[in-house]
Amino acid sequence: MADDLMSKLVSLCKRRGYVFQASEIYGGIGSSWDFGPLGVELKRNVKDAWWRAMVHERDDIVGLDSAIIQHPKVWEASGHIENFTDPLVDCKKCKGRFRADKLDDARCLEKPSKKPGECGGELTEPRRFNLMFKTFLGPVEETAATAYLRPETAQGIFTNFVNVQQSARKRPPFGIAQIGKSFRNEITPGNFIFRTREFEQMEMEFFVPPADWEKWYGEWRSLRQQWYIDLGIDPAKLRLRDHAADELAHYSNGCTDIEFLFPFGWSELEGIASRTDFDLKRHAQWSGKDLQYFDEQTKEHYVPYVIEPAAGCDRATLAFLVDAYTEEQVEGETRVVMKLHPRLAPVKAAILPLVKKDGMPERAHAIEKALRQRFTTSYDEAGAIGRRYRRNDEVGTPFCLTVDGQTKDDQSVTVRARDTMRQERVAEAQLENYLAAQMANWKRGVS
Ligand code: ATP
Repeated sequence: MADDLMSKLVSLCKRRGYVFQASEIYGGIGSSWDFGPLGVELKRNVKDAWWRAMVHERDDIVGLDSAIIQHPKVWEASGHIENFTDPLVDCKKCKGRFRADKLDDARCLEKPSKKPGECGGELTEPRRFNLMFKTFLGPVEETAATAYLRPETAQGIFTNFVNVQQSARKRPPFGIAQIGKSFRNEITPGNFIFRTREFEQMEMEFFVPPADWEKWYGEWRSLRQQWYIDLGIDPAKLRLRDHAADELAHYSNGCTDIEFLFPFGWSELEGIASRTDFDLKRHAQWSGKDLQYFDEQTKEHYVPYVIEPAAGCDRATLAFLVDAYTEEQVEGETRVVMKLHPRLAPVKAAILPLVKKDGMPERAHAIEKALRQRFTTSYDEAGAIGRRYRRNDEVGTPFCLTVDGQTKDDQSVTVRARDTMRQERVAEAQLENYLAAQMANWKRGVS
């Protein structure tokens, strides 16, 4: 069942232009994916929704876009050079390499029905493997020129704490948000875009007076879970999982994963970590710079505590795709619909002339051109109208607007809603407001 749903989704993503295998014409490259015309729109919408909720709708969070390549000392101070490792085991028989702590999710290379080790092959003792990608700055490949591709966006936020705090004139509690690429040389990437070596993160570091960390930790746990629900995710497929004491990083005093029920099981979508004052203190120590905050009112110097909601954009995109995928029986046929929240849908309205004559294509083009100022639209005149509806259902387009014989007489079009297939006649002059209102009022499983 699970494999079935994933393979249907992967094939829809390719067929409709959501996600393609990277370097496909060369046979592909392990677990790298390219986002096609629809995928890039969906991902942008996910990022925009996050940025809006985190930065634009709040007065206590500002944005940042820090470099991917940072001073190597950043990764010494953060502990990544020493500790950003996964335990790796080799199978002596099939030569497969697996994450020792994720053997349950892995498959033997020779016998995919079995887990590593169950095939009779002996597994080596686990060794620590650092996940950071190394590179060299400049033309000489020598140790002194070694640099790393960032494995998380968070550290660029910590190193800019004073710059941002002073230039934006913020006092704790306040946050710094960042969206950008991160790189991890994962031992076992997989499950489509769930785990890849290159991915985008949406991270926010929220700096608080030390005494307030628990309050803000609780606040961010619920705010972040609600964000997914507001964007249409089925609440029954979301859960919070608190890390047990032995799972916590040594500097952390609390961590919760927001998990989603993917077809392959409950898996992490986002982590909300209480990081104490660890990162700022370490960077202060390594750089020799004072990273304390001075509170003018209390005349007190202190290092703020940090609460970090860290989400993966590609993982969230996969969750939205999985959750939206629906099959329904309609008139003896299977209708595949991507019931994406209209805010996330790559195309909001498809404009369809009923036939390719009688001035309908021209009218449809004119309507599309007008609506394009405000919404992402598409134009489709190829094939029977029913087939065009189905095509747009599969893409996840919330509205199909059909221009027919009546349009030239009364300047109205038929608007068909994706989820209910209900049709309504709407005056051309009202279209923009009508679509905006329908989108704003959209509710999962209702409209
Ligand atoms: P995992 O346990 O799945 O490896 P993590 O706990 O190491 O994840 P974090 O370091 O907390 O992940 O990163 C924050 C978020 O970034 C994750 O919740 C996930 O959404 C995303 N993320 C992390 N690694 C990857 C990856 N290899 N591919 C895609 N997204 C990722």
